[in-house]
Amino acid sequence: MTAEIIDGKKLAENIKQEVKAAIEERVRQQLPVPGLATVLVGNNPASRTYVASKIKTTADLGIHSLSYELEENCPQDKLVSLIEELNQNQDIQGILVQLPLPDHLSEDRVMHTISPKKDVDGLHPYNAGLLTRKYSEPLFYPCTPSGIIHMIQSVCPDISGMDAAVIGRSSIVGMPTAMMLSRCNTTPTICHSQTRHLDEVCRESDIVVAAAGSPGLVRGEWIKPGAIVIDVGINHIPDKTSPRGYRLVGDVEFDEAVKRAGAISPVPGGVGPMTIAMLMANTLKAIEYR
Ligand code: NAD
Repeated sequence: MTAEIIDGKKLAENIKQEVKAAIEERVRQQLPVPGLATVLVGNNPASRTYVASKIKTTADLGIHSLSYELEENCPQDKLVSLIEELNQNQDIQGILVQLPLPDHLSEDRVMHTISPKKDVDGLHPYNAGLLTRKYSEPLFYPCTPSGIIHMIQSVCPDISGMDAAVIGRSSIVGMPTAMMLSRCNTTPTICHSQTRHLDEVCRESDIVVAAAGSPGLVRGEWIKPGAIVIDVGINHIPDKTSPRGYRLVGDVEFDEAVKRAGAISPVPGGVGPMTIAMLMANTLKAIEYR
């Protein structure tokens, strides 16, 4: 058996086209278009690439964009003041502070400062809290977990009752993904670096979401035949044969897992493009809270 490949690029393109059409309609009706502010602190090359890609996509879709770059040693108060200003800016509906931040800055304080109504990354504690509450909806679902759920449901619309292994419990990916899987009526097991028998948890799971940042962690033999596998990991592996000097791999041994899974997402071309598409969808949604 060879798994169906979940094409994140194609799914992301469909979402972006829907956002673009909605914005064009707003322009026709002379309604305001949404605005996204991106904030990049420091010189992390991967962060710079991600922000550049987000800015380019906003332009492609007709979203108004403002971008800010702060120096690596930027004081906490300066960053907080910028976010407070953006909270007041009527032309901006979404604020994205690219993570990770340099070590001297508190991500928690920054996340608390963004207005929950402009929290298009869905990481503010208010929105994260609402995600865990049965009768509530967050104002925004976080982007990467939303993309993951969308990809899973693209191959299996009703996942109710399934068992899911989520490898990783970060506030950005693992934990909110588990919460969203629970909201879809699956039974998620949240795994992390201290989890014993990770292989066994995976073997019993109908869905595996790997978000550990550990190349090739998930072996093919861990995959239950027919399972849905979403590989979130982005790992840079030195490769002299590549013009960039490295190649990107995920957390799953793709060549092994593809032989057992029912459906699997690749790296690159899987979750990455979906994260950006969901950010654009959230930015469009943010205009409702204007
Ligand atoms: P993180 O470092 O904050 O969290 C990693 C989690 O994985 C932790 O909970 C840790 O306990 C767990 N973990 C680490 N090694 C493990 C192991 N051997 N076994 C079991 N659990 C283990 O990372 P993050 O921000 O959640 O990102 C995870 C990965 O996803 C990274 O590779 C990151 O680059 C990638 N990522 C991709 C996207 C995307 O859009 N595709 C978005 C965010 C993160």
